Amino acid sequence: MIDFNVPPITGKESAYIAQAFANKKICGDGPFTKKCHRFLQEKTGAAAVYLTTSGTSALEMAAILSGIGPGDEVILPSYTFCSTADAFVARGARLVFVDIRPDTMNIDETKIEAAITDRTKVIAVVHYAGVACEMDTILDIARRHGLKVVEDAAQAVGSYYKGKALGTVGDFGCFSFHETKNYSMGEGGALLLPTLEKRDEAEICREKGTDRSRFFRGQVDKYTWVDYGSSYLPSDINAAYLLAQLEMFDEIFEDRMRTWHTYDEALKPLREAGLIETQVIPEGCTHNAHMYYIKARDLAERTALIQHLKDRGILAVFHYIPLHSSPAGLKFGRFSGEDVYTTRESDRLLRLPLYYRIAPEDTARVIEGVLSFYSR
Ligand SMILES: *Cc1c(COP(=O)(O)O)cnc(C)c1O
Repeated sequence: MIDFNVPPITGKESAYIAQAFANKKICGDGPFTKKCHRFLQEKTGAAAVYLTTSGTSALEMAAILSGIGPGDEVILPSYTFCSTADAFVARGARLVFVDIRPDTMNIDETKIEAAITDRTKVIAVVHYAGVACEMDTILDIARRHGLKVVEDAAQAVGSYYKGKALGTVGDFGCFSFHETKNYSMGEGGALLLPTLEKRDEAEICREKGTDRSRFFRGQVDKYTWVDYGSSYLPSDINAAYLLAQLEMFDEIFEDRMRTWHTYDEALKPLREAGLIETQVIPEGCTHNAHMYYIKARDLAERTALIQHLKDRGILAVFHYIPLHSSPAGLKFGRFSGEDVYTTRESDRLLRLPLYYRIAPEDTARVIEGVLSFYSR
């Protein structure tokens, strides 16, 4: 069976975890966490980076720091993982879903302004498949209406928009290091800040509402409970795993990119014959080969293709069921305007196996599986 995903392992993880034990420092913000912070800061140009226990908890922090509260509204795409929504629902916010663009599956920036009301506080964008949203337009809308922009960059570690690392373009950036993402720590994530303006608030929020970080920097002589917070910092054991991955950042990136291009080249004839659609990478966007997806004609064709691949021992999977039609989506939100593409395009999308060190003979088998389906 060719798996859809295999978590990345670079080789040094066990030694680093053993080192974390030997350090006798396995709680949060130990030496491995600090090294990960430094690495990610240098890689992305963020003013501050904080590892978190998940991408979801990074989003929760962003929701808290954006000051959104009961009855306020957040604008987001319906085609996303539920965590993008959960973080704001936890603050009592209402969800306002906006349609996506069919080319990138990202929020349609031209439909955002019509969704703004006097309750709107935040635009939460999702860089699907590590391909950037149209950020210049979105930041301009946010500036004109006094809104915060939260980037769900869970899939976009190592991606860029016009030369800027995703996660550093808006007011708050959220990475995920879940085992299904390009770089992993099992469960984990990071919050990125583009400037130091929110540094103290972020540290307080992440440390159960205390000013413990300022205490450790010697800025206060005892630490105390100063605001609402939670425990968002991961164990240094998880950070040890992540550091082993980050040290192989380019190698993992290039390996995934090779597979991505292999698929894209091999499936080009199907695209040119109008049988499938493939990913579009807009001008100015540099992606990270997080995913390779194709689009079948419709749901029925996709279902048949999944079965055809399964019969050949290949696990290819579809992705999100739109949030606005899910039970929680109906309870917590509404769709602004018309769902032209969200449901239709999500019904057609199929992700092919892509992970660090997938064997070339396996990608060849996947390609053969897709080609044979369309030559029937
Ligand atoms: C993976 C993912 C998340 C959640 O990340 P976790 O680390 O699993 O909490 C959120 N949003 C998107 C778009 C994701 O792909």
